[in-house]
Amino acid sequence: MNRITSQNVAPADIRMLKSLIEGSNRIVVLCHQAPDGDAVGSSLALANVMKNMQKHVCVITPDAPQKSLMKLPHAREILVASHKTEAAQYFISAADLIVLLDLNDLKRIDRVGPLVEASKAPRIVIDHHEGPDIKADLIFSSPSSSSTCELLYELLESAEWLEHLDSEGATDIYCGMMTDTGNFSYNSNNPRLYHIIASLIERGIDKDDIYKKVWNVSSASRLRLCGHALSSKMELLPELHGAILSLSCDDLTTHGYVRGDTEGLVNQPLAIPGIVWSVFLREDEPGYIKVSMRSQGDFAVNEICHTCFGGGGHVNAAGGELRDSSLAEAIDKIKEVMNDHRHLLPPDLPRVIDNKIQK
Ligand code: 5GP
Ligand code: MN
Repeated sequence: MNRITSQNVAPADIRMLKSLIEGSNRIVVLCHQAPDGDAVGSSLALANVMKNMQKHVCVITPDAPQKSLMKLPHAREILVASHKTEAAQYFISAADLIVLLDLNDLKRIDRVGPLVEASKAPRIVIDHHEGPDIKADLIFSSPSSSSTCELLYELLESAEWLEHLDSEGATDIYCGMMTDTGNFSYNSNNPRLYHIIASLIERGIDKDDIYKKVWNVSSASRLRLCGHALSSKMELLPELHGAILSLSCDDLTTHGYVRGDTEGLVNQPLAIPGIVWSVFLREDEPGYIKVSMRSQGDFAVNEICHTCFGGGGHVNAAGGELRDSSLAEAIDKIKEVMNDHRHLLPPDLPRVIDNKIQK
């Protein structure tokens, strides 16, 4: 499917978006669990626009966003469902419209999913993941958009609602565009992105300040945890052109791990010439392993995560999970699965050199 832009979006869909939002007053905005910069950014930005249209809006996340995102404007007003379950239940049941952002499956909102299913309010989905699997009255699905925030901007432009996007909402949109493209280092060759950024700067954002607030915020323990992972817990598989990083419960505890500390870690091995895929396994609790995958080019990790780890995502960034598994078993499983997919590797890759330093 083509990337949705303000130029090609179906006029009937925009009319319906406008009539659903204009005709509602108690609106709940929801995004996926372990919300990242795009999920939080798109939710807060849409809330900003709708509040400026005098709507009552409640932004709900299934669990808490990581600390660095809490510096975004109005992030402290987010209702975290895992902390305030009854309030989330109340707002969802009282809503006359529910908007789901950066989300293609109600499983991704965990315990909030049944509350949404129980509501009779109309639903809108705005998302850039493959194949949305949610029943909704209106779905804007654009997998070739680099972020939900980019897609949201296009919809706001088509709806002629950019006048309601102030510098705070623009900051939220920039945050999602920046985080989902690794500060415009992948999925970022589209000139349209830079027109959008120019318009956000004209709306008063300070892009350098957003970068500093969201990314230049490492605790010493986070740097040590990532250093430990790269130095002692990274295995290269030169024949398979991949890398596996893993952290056990014990590694996490001894380094004072807090949520968000391992963000970005899985990308690092891709800097080694010849590495096409990278997997990070995090043992969040004994028996439960969170799987994160990254890749380059056409090597699609979302399909692997979908078929083998009950998850999904994008071609080059996906995730899933393993239950009832030790970390050692998870590592073996990854090796087996990636060996089964080696025929999908592109030809003529540079040789991976693992120049290990002898300790
Ligand atoms: P991360 O590796 O940063 O946790 O996730 C990267 C991308 O993979 C996310 O943007 C999301 O699209 C997808 N993803 C991660 N974990 C899961 C999961 O458990 N289920 C599904 N469906 N997608 C996931
Ligand atoms: Mn996203």
